[in-house]
Amino acid sequence: MITAEQVRLSQRILNMQESATIKMSAMARELRAEGHDVISLSLGEPDFDTPNHIKEAAKKALDEGYTKYTPVPGLLELREAVCAKFARDNNLHFKPTQIVVSNGAKQSFANLSLVLLNEGDEVLVLAPFWVSYYEIIKLGGGVPVILKAGIEQDFKVTAEQIEAAITDKTKMMIFSSPCNPTGSVYTKEELKAIADVIAKHPEITIVSDEIYEYINFTDAHASIGAFDNVREQTVTINGFSKGFAMTGWRLGYIGAPEWIAKACAKMQGQFTSGATAFGQMAGAHALTSDLAPTHTMREAFRKRRDMVIELLREIPGFKVNHPQGAFYIFPDISHYFGTSDGNTIVENANDFAEYLLQNAHVAIVSGSAFGADNCFRLSYAASEEQLREAIRRIGVAVAKLS
Ligand code: PMP
Ligand code: GLU
Repeated sequence: MITAEQVRLSQRILNMQESATIKMSAMARELRAEGHDVISLSLGEPDFDTPNHIKEAAKKALDEGYTKYTPVPGLLELREAVCAKFARDNNLHFKPTQIVVSNGAKQSFANLSLVLLNEGDEVLVLAPFWVSYYEIIKLGGGVPVILKAGIEQDFKVTAEQIEAAITDKTKMMIFSSPCNPTGSVYTKEELKAIADVIAKHPEITIVSDEIYEYINFTDAHASIGAFDNVREQTVTINGFSKGFAMTGWRLGYIGAPEWIAKACAKMQGQFTSGATAFGQMAGAHALTSDLAPTHTMREAFRKRRDMVIELLREIPGFKVNHPQGAFYIFPDISHYFGTSDGNTIVENANDFAEYLLQNAHVAIVSGSAFGADNCFRLSYAASEEQLREAIRRIGVAVAKLS
């Protein structure tokens, strides 16, 4: 219901859905505050603290006076470090004028949507997709065109599907690999096939969200922007939240064709200006130092992934994928649709998420928010003990459904 006050809000915000990931973790927090023992596996956030040497670099930068406004696209030290990182890890070769540092990868994508889209432009969104893409595209006036891939195709959209969806209104394509919410990793060959399709349409910009790059268990991260035929039409997004456990620092960046980078900096110059000065210095330090702490976290995630797969596969009716990256697992639970515990009927993934929250006190996120109505997302960025207990409770709760 819309209240008298809400009538005074803009159509823009009334049309916007709240972030499902953030909403679910807030609900878990509320239940916990009421005294319930809730395990929240809803938010995609590493449970590790930022590695010490990065924190030390921030403290040093503060002491050295990095407390002022920075250039809008970021301090040169950080943009140079980002260029070096792109060259080292991704075979992407940018000049600092092609880098824009933002308050998180989320803002990086918001800039892109606002500077590249006009009213009615279509954006191909490879589903399952990260929740915020959808609303940010709408905010830019774009029309999300959802291309679905179920568990039978390892949640990966094919080049053929993309080709069939392109119209003369298609302006952009967005996807993440490793993928939030499925953990799937597009191989170099799959990306090459997609690049070959998009290269035939130079007016389409590929937005490649690689924020989970360092949490990849295949050791074979590939960047679509490295293929020569789409180099000039690809924007690569990355950031510090996941690989360096720096969610609260709010630091992300893009590497882009210079005309896009300039437009993003212009947009950001009116919205937020440069990201936090001392955080940027810490970011530069993170990118140029030994990645051992990042690799240690990745190995911990790998161990948990293996455990979580094994435990979830024991639950009857769960179809479980074998994610190769990120820290999510995305079971297909459509088997339970139309069942009931005698009180609650589970018709869909939203009902299933609600049922688990109320009956198992485990918070996960419904797949609907990610464009996958048969699934739910579980974040295994939690301790092994919590994961074991959560999955035990899920098993007990679903055993009551028939
Ligand atoms: N892209 C994906 C795929 C994500 O999962 C997230 C989640 N945080 C972001 C972007 C945004 O990251 P940041 O914290 O840098 O804004
Ligand atoms: N990206 C994370 C997630 O998917 C963090 C929350 C958010 O920004 O949506 O849970």
